[in-house]
Amino acid sequence: MSDEIKLQNWKRDITYHAGAFVVAQSVDDIVGIVKDRERYPSPVRIKGSHHSTTDCIVAEGGTVIDITKMNKILNIDKENKTITMQPGVLHIDAARELEKHGLQFYVNCEIGNLTVGSGACTATKDASYFAKGEQDWEFGQVNSYAIKFKAILPSGEMLEVTEDDPELLAAMRSSYGMLGAVVEVTYRVKEIRPMTVEHIVYHIDEFADRLPELVDQKRSMMLYLMPHLDQVVVEYRYDGPGPLRSHTFPWRLRNWAWKTGSPFFGRVVSQFVPLQGLRGVLLNAQNRLVGLVMTKLIRGKNTSPADQIIHYPETAPYAAYTFSIWGFPRDEYPQTIRKYFQFCKDYLKDNGYRCDLLNVGYHIAQDTSSLFSYTRKWPCVTIDPVATGSTGWKAFLQAYNEFCLENNGKPLLNQTPYMTPHQVQASFAEEIEIFQQYRHQYDPEDRFYPQWFREMFESKPGQGGIA
Ligand SMILES: Cc1cc2nc3c(=O)[nH]c(=O)nc-3n(C[C@H](O)[C@H](O)[C@H](O)COP(=O)(O)OP(=O)(O)OC[C@H]3O[C@@H](n4cnc5c(N)ncnc54)[C@H](O)[C@@H]3O)c2cc1C
Repeated sequence: MSDEIKLQNWKRDITYHAGAFVVAQSVDDIVGIVKDRERYPSPVRIKGSHHSTTDCIVAEGGTVIDITKMNKILNIDKENKTITMQPGVLHIDAARELEKHGLQFYVNCEIGNLTVGSGACTATKDASYFAKGEQDWEFGQVNSYAIKFKAILPSGEMLEVTEDDPELLAAMRSSYGMLGAVVEVTYRVKEIRPMTVEHIVYHIDEFADRLPELVDQKRSMMLYLMPHLDQVVVEYRYDGPGPLRSHTFPWRLRNWAWKTGSPFFGRVVSQFVPLQGLRGVLLNAQNRLVGLVMTKLIRGKNTSPADQIIHYPETAPYAAYTFSIWGFPRDEYPQTIRKYFQFCKDYLKDNGYRCDLLNVGYHIAQDTSSLFSYTRKWPCVTIDPVATGSTGWKAFLQAYNEFCLENNGKPLLNQTPYMTPHQVQASFAEEIEIFQQYRHQYDPEDRFYPQWFREMFESKPGQGGIA
């Protein structure tokens, strides 16, 4: 229809058409919109930076409220170690402001464009850090540290959710806008500490055989996976000696390579090198070079945790990557990662496609803080295929999703593309039931319930569904 508004996610691989689009400046704007059902059609969805890679953002024919202009940091409480913000504040801006106050987030996602409202009510990932003081793993999901929400309900009333009601808080942390528009959020933060970073390359067999021992070293572990070279590079992070140094070279190099250098190379190879064999040689050579650079150059003793956060351009440039992710039980990961490497090799042989960028993975602590937490049942290690999204990527991910379900994986509703209702329901059967009870309570007329979530939560085999 001519007056519908075309919207896209960051990578422009998801397109939908809203019936109304409003850039909200205040809570009153949001209250006015949700109450006016004639002018503003359902479903009403909140838009952050639209960096999600699934249809969780889609409001086909509905109303989209962009909250990115509601971006004030309202309070930093040094004594109680909290930060309170409007929802449109960017993760990177908040992290840099905390740094000035001698504080830091517990979870420093690499994605700086994440809006803090979205971070509080969706799934995220970063490698769990080991807290020396508590002698325990910290969580690896941003929402686990969101301790107070203010959200606008379909009635226009304000719902306040705190740690006094842990079950509702867990549902809110996984609500994706379905329990209200988050208009204010408070995160727990901690004193900033210098961070050491270093990289070590392992053969897949050595990594898999030694995984329990590597975990016992109590260092945060992010993995760079090279299935076609049988190699894993582990990025270790742990508390370092002072004084802390900000904006350091190793992180600037790593962030440039990840944001621009590698995606540019991957895209050029996928686009302009027609021969599969030659493409493989070039991608393998680049993987080897990246491994070398990481081990030799990307190391630092006393870097700032905020340095690992990247500010991406507003929309994806030519050199941009996309990805998927599933979390797997840590105890089974030695077998799972070997099987995944074989899966990639077999897939290349059978279908002529391989990811044109390094895959990654994160070691993440068990965590029941949010209802759709992918680590509710066990500590996990993830496998995140990463690519420029060239021809063959979608079919690869569809096959990958099947592989993951067969290997006890759990997905992220905003970061695991092309899931089927069966895969979502098999992953979160009990949690969907609990969530729907809250949703019926706070949104009895489905004002905030979009088609995609309806399909994922309710569609049964034989009823079709969105792939
Ligand atoms: C290049 C790239 C790198 C990435 N790197 C990482 C990473 O390192 N770690 C990681 O965890 N993720 C990463 N992501 C994924 C991203 O963090 C998540 O998809 C996140 O949810 C995006 O946040 P957003 O602000 O863009 O929200 P959107 O994508 O706009 O929205 C996500 C969902 O949250 C809802 N929502 C947003 N704001 C509100 C609000 N105020 N109230 C209620 N509901 C709301 C929306 O309706 C939607 O359902 C990356 C994505 C890209 C494209």
